Amino acid sequence: MADYDAIVIGAGISGLTAAAYLARGGARVLVCEQAGQVGGLFNSFWQDGYLFDGGIKAVENAGILIPMLAELGLLSQVRLHKSPVALITEKTVRPIRSLADVEAYFQFLAGHFPDQRDGLQKVLDDVLHIGDLLGALVGLVRSSFEELPGETAAPESRPKDRLAALGHLPATLMHVRAPLRRYLGKRLSNPALVNLLSHLFPDGTGALFGLAYFSMFLDYYYPEDGIQAVPTALAGAIEAAGGEILLNTRVARICLEHGRASGVALSDGTELRASHVVAAGDARQTFTELMPAAAVSPSFTRKLLAADPSHSVFAVFLGLDIPVEQLNLQGCGHLFYAPDLTGIGEADRDREDYFARVPQELSVPCLRQASLAPRGKTGLILSALTSWHYAHNWGLDGGKPSEGYRRLSEKLARQMVASLETFIPGLSHHVELCATATPYTLQRRTSNFQGAIMGWSYEREKAFQRTSLFRIARSVETPVPNLLMAGHWSFSPGGAPVAVLTGKLAAKRILRSTKGGRAIAPVDTRKDTR
Ligand SMILES: Cc1cc2nc3c(=O)[nH]c(=O)nc-3n(C[C@H](O)[C@H](O)[C@H](O)COP(=O)(O)OP(=O)(O)OC[C@H]3O[C@@H](n4cnc5c(N)ncnc54)[C@H](O)[C@@H]3O)c2cc1C
Repeated sequence: MADYDAIVIGAGISGLTAAAYLARGGARVLVCEQAGQVGGLFNSFWQDGYLFDGGIKAVENAGILIPMLAELGLLSQVRLHKSPVALITEKTVRPIRSLADVEAYFQFLAGHFPDQRDGLQKVLDDVLHIGDLLGALVGLVRSSFEELPGETAAPESRPKDRLAALGHLPATLMHVRAPLRRYLGKRLSNPALVNLLSHLFPDGTGALFGLAYFSMFLDYYYPEDGIQAVPTALAGAIEAAGGEILLNTRVARICLEHGRASGVALSDGTELRASHVVAAGDARQTFTELMPAAAVSPSFTRKLLAADPSHSVFAVFLGLDIPVEQLNLQGCGHLFYAPDLTGIGEADRDREDYFARVPQELSVPCLRQASLAPRGKTGLILSALTSWHYAHNWGLDGGKPSEGYRRLSEKLARQMVASLETFIPGLSHHVELCATATPYTLQRRTSNFQGAIMGWSYEREKAFQRTSLFRIARSVETPVPNLLMAGHWSFSPGGAPVAVLTGKLAAKRILRSTKGGRAIAPVDTRKDTR
């Protein structure tokens, strides 16, 4: 008999979600996590009295996160608060707390680019229309969760019938099928304006996704005690329901019997048997390192290896010897800073001065909760989109950090701090702590290929998994029977909501084949379409 009904590889948000639903459903579940703490890219760490979030900076509900926490009875443990976003252009902070603020932002842009007013109005119309659609879609996704507390509203949309919004779906999708930059280029003739509306997103981002983000800004939450509170609560729920979690435990191999997943082998050689395995880590690793090549078809492997990972980030963690009030952030702990009104084009991403001009995502944990920084001081996280390949792979020497790598990280951190001085004059004189994280750091900690933060590339033709949202349930299937996948590599475009949803979907698949926590007939999860 198998030791477990399911073994989950990876305690990121997807693996934890899968395991929590499995344990709640009575399955015997084990989670193996290579790191010393749960969470993967959902993590926080303390340094010198400052709390920093090492991965995601605030969480989108998207009709998924809060319902998941509610279903698992965790809403009283993970106390989420709205986390308002602000856009900083040059020196002005513009909070985005409602769709009216989005409209005001477009008016500001129209004031600065008067000859682009008509084009901007068309883009704004699409933003609002997509906001309605998103509300309708989120309503559909929410219906896959059973218990919904009153406050789990979908992102704000205009007061109109959501079903009517769905009726516009075909026309809207026709409009916004193109990549965001191409879509904008057809409506706006000023390249700087195109940059300003697209440079926060990775290259190749679809127009639908990019325009939807203005509504998503209204849907961000921050947990009390930092992002780590979410995975910690999930881990508690797993253990309370009888599940097990092994930290510092790397899965070295997925065991196969007659071509079916039958358990895992750990890096110390221990073999554990299970009726199902859920791979909730990097997909390349799953299919090319953790199992023999013959387990999947050569065409599957070729396609997998040809696909590109998503973008990564360079992050700078600062401890400042000034109180947060001095930053004048208008109550917003999550901000996007554009140093100028020229913006960044795709061709700028490899430039030497890229980090001196790049738009930065800023996060200020202690603005949400004063105890997350020493009294009278401020922890500030800066991050910017980048790739593994920047500056000849970050000066890594044979894949390992070198003196050049360290010098480059320090130089780029200085560039980002200097750029931010337009908004916070004298910032560099207040830095008492500075740490950095590169794509290499993210890859080393989580095994996400090349430090990818969202799974597969956002460029449609470069991604591996891209199916219709309406078929997301099938994205957890793999070509190997009894092996399911969950997480941001299982559906594209990935991200936190996809990770949570696929975790739940994988658990549901397994529970469907179990009774009273005992596997009665493993499901055949083979996917015949790829
Ligand atoms: C800076 C930053 C900002 C972000 N912002 C957003 C945002 O605004 N919106 C959004 O939707 N998403 C955002 N994301 C992305 C989001 O955080 C991720 O998509 C999501 O957390 C992925 O969860 P996951 O469980 O799929 O994978 P991961 O978090 O990568 O978890 C995988 C886990 O598996 C473990 N593992 C891997 N291999 C093995 C093995 N062989 N044995 C044992 N354990 C293993 C890893 O250590 C890791 O803990 C952001 C990410 C970052 C880094």
